[in-house]
Amino acid sequence: MVEGIQSVSQVTSWLVAGRTLFLVIHILGVACFAYIVAKRLVPLLRAERDLRFDRPLARLEKVFKFWLGQWKHPRYKTAGTLHILIFAGFILLAMRAFTVLIVGVSQNFVMPGFSGRAGHIYDIVTDYAATVVFLCMVVAVIRRLVFKPVRYEVPARFGKAHTADAVFLLGLIAILMVADSLFEAAKAASQSQLGQPVETLAVLSLPWILQIALLPVALATIGKVYAGAYLLHEVTFYFLLCYRPFGIQFHVETSLFNVYFAKLDREILKPVRWGVSDEHLDQVKSFGVKTFEDFTWKHMLDFYSCADCGRCSDNCPSNAVGRPLSPRFLTIKARDYAFQHYPMFGHSDDGSSNGNSKPLIGHLYSEDEIWSCTTCGACEEECPLLVEYIDKIVDLRRGLIDDGNVPQSLQKPLKALESRGNPYGKMEKKKADWANAKEFQQVCQVKTLGKSNGADTLYFVDSITSYDDRIQSIGRATAKILDHVGENFGILGAAERDSGHEVRRFGEELLFTALRDHNVDAIKASGVKRIVTADPHAFNALKHDYKDVPEVEHISQVIAREVKSGKIKFNAVENGDKVYTYHDPCYLGRHNQVYDDPRDVLDAIPGLKRVEMSRSRDRSFCCGGGGLMLFYEPKEEQRMGVKRVQMAAEAGANVIVTACPFCMVNLEDAIKVAGLEGKMTAIDLAELVDQEMVREEQKAV
Ligand code: SF4
Ligand code: SF4
Repeated sequence: MVEGIQSVSQVTSWLVAGRTLFLVIHILGVACFAYIVAKRLVPLLRAERDLRFDRPLARLEKVFKFWLGQWKHPRYKTAGTLHILIFAGFILLAMRAFTVLIVGVSQNFVMPGFSGRAGHIYDIVTDYAATVVFLCMVVAVIRRLVFKPVRYEVPARFGKAHTADAVFLLGLIAILMVADSLFEAAKAASQSQLGQPVETLAVLSLPWILQIALLPVALATIGKVYAGAYLLHEVTFYFLLCYRPFGIQFHVETSLFNVYFAKLDREILKPVRWGVSDEHLDQVKSFGVKTFEDFTWKHMLDFYSCADCGRCSDNCPSNAVGRPLSPRFLTIKARDYAFQHYPMFGHSDDGSSNGNSKPLIGHLYSEDEIWSCTTCGACEEECPLLVEYIDKIVDLRRGLIDDGNVPQSLQKPLKALESRGNPYGKMEKKKADWANAKEFQQVCQVKTLGKSNGADTLYFVDSITSYDDRIQSIGRATAKILDHVGENFGILGAAERDSGHEVRRFGEELLFTALRDHNVDAIKASGVKRIVTADPHAFNALKHDYKDVPEVEHISQVIAREVKSGKIKFNAVENGDKVYTYHDPCYLGRHNQVYDDPRDVLDAIPGLKRVEMSRSRDRSFCCGGGGLMLFYEPKEEQRMGVKRVQMAAEAGANVIVTACPFCMVNLEDAIKVAGLEGKMTAIDLAELVDQEMVREEQKAV
């Protein structure tokens, strides 16, 4: 209690004693919040299951890194710094807010352990924390209204902006900080007027400034300010608590859980149904997500947890080239749907909250939106709250495929995959033709593995390298490199089917399992000890989608190792005017973190000039999608590949090196479309290494 002004628990307002009033506010506030949260949990309880209760230590590690450590926020410097400051402020102020709440019903309450020096230090720290949070709110409002980053904009096709909601909530937090500071300042000002020992306020903090402003004010008025500030704090606190679950600030409550339950093995695709093994897939009545309740509870938690920061869409190549997909709005639309169809009172108008949900495709999402994704992973890489997209998109595709909604341009390749094991419909016996060309056989013999023809290493070639005339050159370069380093290797030839990587990501799970099972049998029968591939899609499939196969490496990893061991040495590059840049294929880089090996190889070539594109490594920009994306004709304003070659030109490069056959097709095509033919070229890392490595005969000379 402060002598001279009444304690807030003793002040009588509207004929009600402070203690009673604040007790009622507490009970009402907590009860309302509990009711709202219970209602928000209803769709999660009706959702599909999701197994996220394993490996608690790994999950806690994620919480420390991504939630407490705010790991991803600095990727956007201004917004990230603001968020880190606000988050740190909230964490520091949490105990103070709790103490202030209790003071209303127990006037002398002090948090245990915080009555002496520790309490004093804590007060100083929280004075500054409240000031910083207040200032951040002012800056955030200005950013939302005046210097609005482009990524906050909402194209008309995706709905309306949530700016008003965001600004209102930022304003509420600012009011909370002012009320808290004013409460403290009034207490200190009254102590000062009465000549009592004054609680030291942090110099230049908001409470300190407000205290100076209150010093000349009459004591009675200070008493009213003291009580009024407390009431404002209480009401704002509970209003915020109960209002947040209605908009983008719900993430304040859900983010901790969303990060804890985040996917631990990001590279492994979600099964069709958790708890249903591949052998029992034929018993699953309906595949994928068709209605809102088909999403898993974790995916619904993602919807609640999105902060609408726009980082995912800002990095999404589909969004960048004007395809009808923006990951942010996949989430925002679903959250708006959840709020509308699971209202706080009663049932939704269309009865969806009673389990009669409408199909999502056609109502919430369009087919083109769902097929536009290249599964590049840029959105997931960027999201500070670890919201997942690829699994949801694949699940929506599974639902479309299950209903027979396959895009026209994909029907033929999918049928060919079913009948011939490759999307081109080519004969199996032609699979090894690339290796049987006479000229090539004179320099390198590639054996086809069989009962009498064993090897230590399998070179898994995959469809595009086997059948595409241009890309076969990557296959030959890979074989020559393996031969050069003395690898005892072979190929499966006609026994190899498409890896099924894209088939799976296009939602054709049963076709994928058939292709995978065939390949697994063939690989096991070959008796190899390890696998090498030059195709990041095959690499990803063999590494993460297949089970019980030997360890797999991408050729760039093999080359990097053999450069270090000295088995691969390079001639100096001759064309001095060439400037190289490396394009990270999504399924080698972002999905498997192979960033350094290809760069180390390039840097080991004497005289090679290399520059980095502004978007590289885990921020690499997808070339347009691999696998079946080559057959899909999306609605777009510009090709992704064209955007990518323009980025290379901006970086000052005239040679793009990549390490993926699909990237090669897209980039070479894009160079032509961008009118850069003759000025820019693309080459695969294996081709470049084959071209520049010192061979035995050269060594002898
Ligand atoms: S995976 Fe890539 S293309 Fe798909 S939504 Fe995310 S960023 Fe966009
Ligand atoms: S999903 Fe993540 S990155 Fe995208 S808007 Fe929401 S919080 Fe931001």
